[in-house]
Amino acid sequence: MKIRRGDHVMVLSGKHKGMRGEVVRALPKEDRVVVEGVNRVKRHQRTTQTRKRAGIIEKDLPVPVSIVALECPKEHAPARVGYQVSEDGTKKRVCARCGEGL
Ligand SMILES: [Zn+2]
Repeated sequence: MKIRRGDHVMVLSGKHKGMRGEVVRALPKEDRVVVEGVNRVKRHQRTTQTRKRAGIIEKDLPVPVSIVALECPKEHAPARVGYQVSEDGTKKRVCARCGEGL
């Protein structure tokens, strides 16, 4: 998975198309990511032994990583991810279109 926690992504399709946000959690095993503010749902909770407060909480549910894309900071558009290998052998993610580091 090319997308990691802390990345800024755009949603490309589905109910939340056009939304932008930061990845707060990456779930590589499920090919899903949790994006701040995207797929937010309200959950009604009762108190339990471990949870003393009842009420409505808002929660962001994971979305498939296939519907989000990294946002190129230069073009403000979805980026295709490329890799650039520098002379010391470290790999860097770049925008495949304009070469901007991601
Ligand atoms: Zn770009």
